[in-house]
Amino acid sequence: MKVLVFAPELCDAQLGCEETCSLTWFKEANHDKSAIRILEAEGRTGKYTANVCTQCGQCIDVCPTLAIQRDKRGVVRINKDLCVGCLSCVGFCPYGAMRMHPDYTVPFKCVACGSCAKSCPTGALAVLDLPDAPLTATEKRLLGGV
Ligand code: SF4
Ligand code: SF4
Repeated sequence: MKVLVFAPELCDAQLGCEETCSLTWFKEANHDKSAIRILEAEGRTGKYTANVCTQCGQCIDVCPTLAIQRDKRGVVRINKDLCVGCLSCVGFCPYGAMRMHPDYTVPFKCVACGSCAKSCPTGALAVLDLPDAPLTATEKRLLGGV
């Protein structure tokens, strides 16, 4: 599955990735509309972490309308037509990586498009092909047709 990965030792927190993400998906340079957030690492001045979706897929089981599913690349995506904006996935995400913004009823998240990685001047971001995450209960049920 495709996943955006982060090399903290290469990050100098210029935040171009946040701007690129919001421009790519919302046509607006707005850090609040970025799927990736660069945060100062706790207790480590000058060091940073990236808060972004790991494509773990645990939110798939939480969505009451089956709006969250994996695509062919293994990327977890929200189907806007099925989402009812209950925000269960936002509250549930163990990584705090499912985002919301008052301008929209549908949440948003990283879909490993790679735009931010291309724009990062220090090469701190990359989209990698990692082993697939285990199927969730919902995915097993859908595959089994039960
Ligand atoms: S906000 Fe949308 S995608 Fe998230 S759990 Fe609710 S219906 Fe599903
Ligand atoms: S890979 Fe794409 S969707 Fe994910 S944080 Fe970067 S620009 Fe946003």
